[in-house]
Amino acid sequence: MSTVALEDLTHVYDSGAESVKALDDVSLTIDSGEFVSVVGPSGCGKSTLLYVVGGFIDPTHGRILVDGTSITGPGTDRGVIFQEYALYPWKSVMENVKFGLKHVGTDSTEEVEATAQKYISRVGLDGHEDKYPKELSGGMKQRVAIARTLAYDPKILLMDEPFGALDDQTREILQRDLLDICNETQKTILFITHDIEEAAFLSDRIVVMSTQPGTSKEQFEVNIDQS
Ligand code: ADP
Ligand code: ADP
Repeated sequence: MSTVALEDLTHVYDSGAESVKALDDVSLTIDSGEFVSVVGPSGCGKSTLLYVVGGFIDPTHGRILVDGTSITGPGTDRGVIFQEYALYPWKSVMENVKFGLKHVGTDSTEEVEATAQKYISRVGLDGHEDKYPKELSGGMKQRVAIARTLAYDPKILLMDEPFGALDDQTREILQRDLLDICNETQKTILFITHDIEEAAFLSDRIVVMSTQPGTSKEQFEVNIDQS
C-alpha cells in the first residue's frame, strides 16, 4: 500500500499566445488504501491533476511524493484507467492484458499467461480471451482495461471518468465490481468524475475542485462514512 502526497501542485499550459493555469497550488494527501474522488465542473483541472500524478506531464511547480519519495514520470507504482479504454485494437483480450505485464518483467511465459488469465477471470471475461476490442461492448472494453492495469499490481490507481461513456445499467454494475476489487486489493485511489453520486457511492472522501483556481483559497472536502 502507498500514500500519495501532492504538494503545492501548479500546472500552467503554455501554448504560445495564451497560458492557462489549470492547477493552482493544489495540495492533497491520499492515505494508503484510501479511495478519494475529485469532482468539479468541466475545465477545473481534474484531468490535468491526473496526468500530473500519472507522470505524463511535469508540474510547473510542486511535488508528488509516493511513500515520502518524490517521483517524476510514469511508473509501475501507478496504474491509469481512462474513459476511452485505450486498448490496442489489433490485440486480443488476452494480448491486451498480457501487455500490461510487459512493464514489470514477469519471468516465464506461463507465469504471464496465468497472471493475465487470473485478472481476465476477476473482471468476469472468462471465455472472451481471444476476442478483439471491436467485438466487445463498452463495459467489456473497460473490464479489459481494468484487468490490464491490475495485472501488474500497481499500488496506486488513477482513474479519469472510467465509466463516463457507459449506459446507466452497465455503469452501476462496473461501479460495484470496482468497489469489490478495490476492497480486496487495498489500492490507493485517485478517481476523477463529474458525477457527485458516483463519487459518493465509491469514495471514502470527496475533494471538490473549483472552476477558478486562484480565486479559491479553500479546498472543500467531504468525508463519507461507507460503513
Ligand atoms: P498559498 O497561499 O500558500 O499558495 P493557499 O493558502 O492559497 O496556498 O492554499 C491553496 C489551497 O487551495 C490549497 O489547499 C489547494 O489545494 C487549494 N486549491 C488550489 N486550487 C484549487 C482549486 N482549483 N479548487 C479547489 N481547491 C484548490
Ligand atoms: P477537467 O478535466 O476538469 O475538465 P482539464 O484538466 O481538462 O479540466 O483542463 C483544465 C484547463 O486547462 C481548462 O481550461 C482547459 O481548457 C485547459 N487545458 C487542458 N489541456 C490543455 C492543453 N493541452 N493546452 C492548453 N490548455 C489546456
